[in-house]
Amino acid sequence: MKNAKSKSSSGGILEPVWCYHCCIRIAPSALRIVFHGKDYHRDCFVKLTSTSPKFGKN
Ligand SMILES: [Zn+2]
Repeated sequence: MKNAKSKSSSGGILEPVWCYHCCIRIAPSALRIVFHGKDYHRDCFVKLTSTSPKFGKN
């Protein structure tokens, strides 16, 4: 027990995030989209939404 701050890990520490679409790590500074609890690059999310007719607006 070295760490005095042994509480929840969501205290400002940036955890690595991987894109659910291309499986490449998303940089903290990169644009990120969270959709249904999954993380995507913004560009990957645009691809997803542009290729899937489900996301199209009618
Ligand atoms: Zn991606």
